[in-house]
Amino acid sequence: MSWYQYLQNELALREERQQIRKLHVTENGPDCWITKDGKRLLNLASNNYLGLAGDKRLIEAAIEAASLYGAGATASRLIVGNYPLYEETEQDIANWKGTERALLIGSGYTANLGALSALLGRNDVVYSDRLNHASITDGIILSRAEQKRYKHNDLEHLEKLLQETPANKRKLIVTDTVFSMDGDTAYLRELVHIKEKYNALLMVDEAHASGVYGQNGAGLAQELVERIDLHMGTFSKALGCSGAYLAGSKLLMEYLTNTMRSFIFTTGMPPSTVGSIKRAVEIVRDESTRRALLMQNGTLLRDLLKQAGFNTGGSSTHIVPIVIGSNEATISFSQMLQEKGIAAIAVRPPTVPENSSRIRLTVTSEHKPEEIREAVKLIAETGLREGVLS
Ligand SMILES: *Cc1c(COP(=O)(O)O)cnc(C)c1O
Repeated sequence: MSWYQYLQNELALREERQQIRKLHVTENGPDCWITKDGKRLLNLASNNYLGLAGDKRLIEAAIEAASLYGAGATASRLIVGNYPLYEETEQDIANWKGTERALLIGSGYTANLGALSALLGRNDVVYSDRLNHASITDGIILSRAEQKRYKHNDLEHLEKLLQETPANKRKLIVTDTVFSMDGDTAYLRELVHIKEKYNALLMVDEAHASGVYGQNGAGLAQELVERIDLHMGTFSKALGCSGAYLAGSKLLMEYLTNTMRSFIFTTGMPPSTVGSIKRAVEIVRDESTRRALLMQNGTLLRDLLKQAGFNTGGSSTHIVPIVIGSNEATISFSQMLQEKGIAAIAVRPPTVPENSSRIRLTVTSEHKPEEIREAVKLIAETGLREGVLS
């Protein structure tokens, strides 16, 4: 079969399975209301959890940093692309996290890819929650380590897998702290016990928890900061910017600086982005009201959807899925909701396991309770009509 024939077939197959993905255009900047494909929608789909992406202070900090250091970093951090701003920001992140050191990385995706492939080699074993983010899975594949995936949040299964491994093997356990498509959380305290018992490293991905949980918004793992080896989190979600951090001991950070290919072989982040990250960390530390509002809105959305009879899975956070099952029903429900004025996005395999397609809803601190109430009313009416609710 020719290449082009093959590509065409692959797309046709996805079309058939209702798994085809298309780009849509959002016409305005970050807001609770967006215009998408010409239609005004209540935005229950963004990860701008604290409403910071549009914050004037972040934009000003970006402009200031660009004026000082230019539009691009001109080289890898290890060559000449490292500015005082970058060093200060990393120090701020380490202080905020309560770790010895922190390292800025271009994105959450490349942070996971780089850290896991740098730490693990083909003789090592890595234990990964089945619902971990794709970037974790990709980092593991790149590392060539032996991967053992444990059932979601099933620590008995994890221990069983650990017991099967020879004691002399180097082991690493990795988990999201807030799971991105389910909105539930990992059992960190228990994971710390297990990692200590089996002499493993523990890495946590706080992409959806940074800025949201913990004292000063430093993440769900904050209470256990010293007992967790490697902390990863992003600035692209609650902090409203882009990029990620890796944080931990001086030794780990030095090791990663020397071995992490997604850090070494890439241009430093743009000064504008680092400028806004620095400001965002300060704001998140100081403005706990945003977190309180986000928690209230998350609880409201979850409670109302449950009361209406929807299956919100194990969600206990600001990420609330409506689990439906089939791709077809999920897509049709999502389209109906968008016609009614709600940006409610269908998430399908391979992003989630087969037969667990869902609408993934998120709230932010900026949504008004009335908007959430109104939205759930519409979602429930539509759900009844569409046969999603019985
Ligand atoms: C979004 C996400 C990432 C990737 O972060 P980006 O900064 O968007 O590349 C990594 N891990 C998890 C759990 C995520 O949800």
